[in-house]
Amino acid sequence: MTFTADSRMNLDRFWDTIEQSGEIGVRRPGGLSRLTLSDADREMRNLFVSWCEEARLTVEVDELGSIFARREGQRDDLPPVMIGSHLDTQVNGGRFDGIAGVLAGLEVVRTLNDLGHVTQRPLVLVNWTNEEGARFSPPMVASGAFVGKYEPDWVRNLVDDEGIRFGDELERIGYRGTRAARGGQVDAYFELHIEQGPILDAERRAVGIVTGGYPSHGMRIRFEGETAHTGPTPMNLRHNALIAGARWLTAVDDIGWDFAVHDGKATGSRLTAWPNKPGILSETAECVADVRHPDPVTAGVMAERMRRAAFAAAAIAGCTAVVEDEWTWGGAIFDQSLINLIRSEAIRQNYNWRDIQSQAGHDAYHMAMHCPTAMIFTPCRGGITHNNEEYCSLEDLEAGLNILLHCAVSRLDRPYIT
Ligand SMILES: [Zn+2]
Repeated sequence: MTFTADSRMNLDRFWDTIEQSGEIGVRRPGGLSRLTLSDADREMRNLFVSWCEEARLTVEVDELGSIFARREGQRDDLPPVMIGSHLDTQVNGGRFDGIAGVLAGLEVVRTLNDLGHVTQRPLVLVNWTNEEGARFSPPMVASGAFVGKYEPDWVRNLVDDEGIRFGDELERIGYRGTRAARGGQVDAYFELHIEQGPILDAERRAVGIVTGGYPSHGMRIRFEGETAHTGPTPMNLRHNALIAGARWLTAVDDIGWDFAVHDGKATGSRLTAWPNKPGILSETAECVADVRHPDPVTAGVMAERMRRAAFAAAAIAGCTAVVEDEWTWGGAIFDQSLINLIRSEAIRQNYNWRDIQSQAGHDAYHMAMHCPTAMIFTPCRGGITHNNEEYCSLEDLEAGLNILLHCAVSRLDRPYIT
């Protein structure tokens, strides 16, 4: 057997890996709670590594725990083609977000092994640590370190809500590797992902060709006030940081409604306060919010309003606001030649496709800063995600899988200049 234009992925074998992954880190029925660097994450990593070794891949772990599994090419000195995503999940996560992308890459490897096809370039399959940011904020830190955006030491010093360090958990689960987090040359990076939105499912599309990401701006703000008794303290002498935070987050939500008609979105996602007890005004509050809009200029306007709203909320509550962190991502970041390649494969294989913009953050956003990058979206039922009800059928995934296979091989076997 050889690789031909008609070669297809082994869907049943792929589904079997999805189901085995779906047994690790179960919390509510049907969903997963596989937080990064947890015991469940370790168990999944171990299984993934065993699958990679069975597929005769050379496994390396970097200093932030990302797993790189390499399949040799005929010209092994050439920069590799990478396929990746993440195996960690949200607290109330699904069985497909990220996971489908990593296991799709594994199935590409297995299919090439079945066919005895040795590609020109090496293929590297990657599982990025802490894509979700559900335990250690911000998200996508390992791919960020790969492209030089974050220092590995900074990442290892992140702490979770219990005050546990990223670096200590990495050691505990045995996934602090020796490979440098900063990556070398990469020929191309592909990431298959569920859409995490309702468009493909509603339009009955088999696959989405991701042209870019909604420009997004996020902020983490700390409000500082002063503790006092809730009873006798007059309203004009209060410095209640909890109220500053709450006011900011509702103001951010209002911004979302103001821009909703053209699909703008604004989210207040986190508020923690201290002491956060009855009978006492809070001294500090920490909040996270973000805004997204398909038009970059409008997204910038929303971001500016979000920023001003923080200081306005602080002033009303007699507090101060400190911007602790801010980030931005999205835009037309993906590689046009890869987008064209994916589109032409969708047409050649006669799948019902459409162009689509990503509305969520992905490791591919970081990789796009480093090498030609593209994403393939598959439908997911009702767009439900970050929820234990998240679901894709094998039919939902089929087009994306077969397109990924052919696009990856096309790039792996692309002629090279010696
Ligand atoms: Zn994801």
